[in-house]
Amino acid sequence: MASVEILDKALEVIREYPLCDSCLGRLFAQLGHGVENAERGIAIKTILHMTLVNDYRKGKDVVRDLTALAKVHKPTRRFLASVGIKVEEESCYICGGLLTEVEKYADAALPLLSEVDFNSFAVGTTIPREVLDRESQVVKKFLITTGESIKHEINRRIGKELLRHLTGKRVDKLRPNVVVRIDLVTGKASVERNPVLIGGVYLKLSRRVSQAKKFGDVKTTLTEKLAYVKDVFGGGEHVVHVSGREDSDARMLGTGRQLVVEVKQPVKYRGSVPPLKDDDVIFIPSTFTTREEVRRLKEKAKTDVKLYRALVLSERELSAEELNKLGELSGKTVTQLTPRRIKRLSPRKKRVRMVYELAWRLVSPHVFELYVRCQGGLYVKEFIHGDGGRTKPSVSEILNTYLEVLELDVLAVE
Ligand SMILES: [Zn+2]
Repeated sequence: MASVEILDKALEVIREYPLCDSCLGRLFAQLGHGVENAERGIAIKTILHMTLVNDYRKGKDVVRDLTALAKVHKPTRRFLASVGIKVEEESCYICGGLLTEVEKYADAALPLLSEVDFNSFAVGTTIPREVLDRESQVVKKFLITTGESIKHEINRRIGKELLRHLTGKRVDKLRPNVVVRIDLVTGKASVERNPVLIGGVYLKLSRRVSQAKKFGDVKTTLTEKLAYVKDVFGGGEHVVHVSGREDSDARMLGTGRQLVVEVKQPVKYRGSVPPLKDDDVIFIPSTFTTREEVRRLKEKAKTDVKLYRALVLSERELSAEELNKLGELSGKTVTQLTPRRIKRLSPRKKRVRMVYELAWRLVSPHVFELYVRCQGGLYVKEFIHGDGGRTKPSVSEILNTYLEVLELDVLAVE
């Protein structure tokens, strides 16, 4: 866009609508970086003023254009007054003066922000509906394609103002710690505190720890064990997102399983989480992480390869030779109806998972140890005892005996 085009377009708009410096400059926001819209607006008005005054002196009939500009430009009002034409100042058609000192709205948020120890923030504002409507009316009428939205300018300017008062903070529109919400209709501000997400891995050494809910002889939960993470950040509550799950009576050994602790409503976004190590659970925290990582973890659980160890009791005596029949199950696809022990809304959902490899060792005539390497999501206990025929094929079916799983451990999540 040539400078003449900018001036022509600007004059066209000004003839019809009185616009403040910001609202006029914003129509050309995409032209020229590092200049605030108000500065752009002032520059355009100054050049229009110089051109029109020059034309006037040459005797051209530009009084109407000068009058239109004078409504929103003091030097032009003064010039016209000097030649006997009095023009009243008018308020901006789009913002009605809102943008003149929109920075003052930041004041309401500052005391709220001082209560939170955060690193990054974003600004969100509620702008009067009619202001947005009038803006889109002007943009459409003059086919403005070089502009910025008023919402964008307001959020940016309030953000800048906040930065002036807050040292060491930064604006992060994508993943802010806190979102400053300002309602320009009421002038009220609020601060939304986004959760802190901490990644890590855990090992479960006890057979009486469940992931989230207490039942039966479960003595504690992973969620309870990790409550101390919430306290590090002064959070209101916390949720543990785990990549897959194991039964409460199954141990989680080896290199552990990945999880993310989500701390809601924190008052601090800095802090280091110490590892946890007791008789039940080991938790090794890693880094701050993101919501996308939580989604990835949950998705990954479906495709992860898991290695299990089970200690199995057989109703009838087995020989080492008989156990060798289990080789047939390697590389098999297993079809499972939702186990009877799991109460679900759709109790007859079908699940299909791969069993890659099996290894076994007879411990005594009624007890054997079984290693199962399989796709994530396989109900391993059911794969062993068959769940009354609801899982096919199963170890029980192949060995033609009733089986009971005495112990189950997750040895590896690959
Ligand atoms: Zn305005």
